[in-house]
Amino acid sequence: MTRQYGFDTLQVHAGSQPDPATGARQTPIYQTTAYVFRDADHAAALFNLQEVGFIYSRLTNPTVAVLQERIATLEGGIGAVCCSSGHAAQILALFPLMQPGTSVVASNRLYGGTIQQFTNTIRKFGWSAKFVDFDDIDAIRAAIDENTRALFCETIANPGGVITDLDAVARVAEEAGLPLIVDNTSATPWLCRPIEHGATLVVHSTTKYMTGNGTVTGGAVVDCGTFDWSASGRFPSLSEPEPAYHGLKFHETFGNLAFTFYGIAVGLRDLGMTMNPQAAHYTLLGIETLSLRMKKHVENAERIAAWLEEHPAVREVSYAGLPSSPYYGLKEKICPKGAGALFTFALKGGYDACVRFVDALELFSHVANLGDTRSLVIHPASTTHRQLTEAQQIAAGAGPDVIRVSIGIEDAEDLIADLEQALEKAMATG
Ligand SMILES: *Cc1c(COP(=O)(O)O)cnc(C)c1O
Repeated sequence: MTRQYGFDTLQVHAGSQPDPATGARQTPIYQTTAYVFRDADHAAALFNLQEVGFIYSRLTNPTVAVLQERIATLEGGIGAVCCSSGHAAQILALFPLMQPGTSVVASNRLYGGTIQQFTNTIRKFGWSAKFVDFDDIDAIRAAIDENTRALFCETIANPGGVITDLDAVARVAEEAGLPLIVDNTSATPWLCRPIEHGATLVVHSTTKYMTGNGTVTGGAVVDCGTFDWSASGRFPSLSEPEPAYHGLKFHETFGNLAFTFYGIAVGLRDLGMTMNPQAAHYTLLGIETLSLRMKKHVENAERIAAWLEEHPAVREVSYAGLPSSPYYGLKEKICPKGAGALFTFALKGGYDACVRFVDALELFSHVANLGDTRSLVIHPASTTHRQLTEAQQIAAGAGPDVIRVSIGIEDAEDLIADLEQALEKAMATG
């Protein structure tokens, strides 16, 4: 059958089939580190990358391979590499592109941990990042120089509900002959498929909505498969002979799978940030219901954001799903099904009211996570952003009066009742 399956079918089936050995319908957890070679010639062919197969689970594992194909399919890419966390995925996305002295032009509104990784840690590899406002297309163009190897942004930037105009950014990347990397964690492929807007690579923290139940950390890098890695000479890891594989040239040999093969055969082999089969199992279970969950997440978030906007204790709500948001127009263009379920709001009572509010919530959990079925809350100024000055906090959309929520899939009425009683306690002084 040549039918093009829909998203709901693919999230259940893509990449998997009944287990050929046992007929097991659910994808088995292949809890093994190694795989028996048929004979010495088979082993040699695998090690030379002349034949694709399983050698050792630091590189590939059948359970993880199903997840890789599922995520690549849902994102509309040619291949995907899974790894141990979202932060690992970011390194694995950059690793084939970068050399010492090269840099990334990145949005200044990224997940806090990514700002940290790009500001300090990647410098130890000799890489660097230039942060610019991705609402300002000319600023992105101006920041690109001969050492730039990629542009990096998020579809829906955390925490302030900012939507990136991916089509416009992709045009800048294309003009400059550079790949555009998009972190699609907050949107998921159900709300937005960045490759359809011109992204080259899509990265995920599968820890969040893709798994959806707060059980395991994981990451993925998806390649669109159409970028020409040999055109400019700026990506020698992919276009030039690789000494570790007898001078094999990845792009020439593997064509549109070059990036994915390099990510596994060199990235995972030497950096070792592998996803284990148990984690892949939990994420596969989660992905089966991705669209159902995202629909409910968005429905609840839109309802709660609108309710908060009317509440007398609330100064403002930053959520691109609200018609009052300056990003509402971009939401309609980039992720028309919804702006996700992560947003911030500010309390008129300031820092102290925020602390009282978080402590008074009963159904919402106070945690440093997002994208769980459970509703979560955090006061960034007293937790994740407490090291920053007040000016830096405000610039990051995390001023002293700002609360961040990740709306779960519970009954909206129950969540509103919890918010209402906590807002009442937050307002009461003394
Ligand atoms: C959580 C998150 C990350 C980091 O992912 P981990 O799985 O925690 O390493 C990166 N980007 C975004 C947008 C995230 O929400």
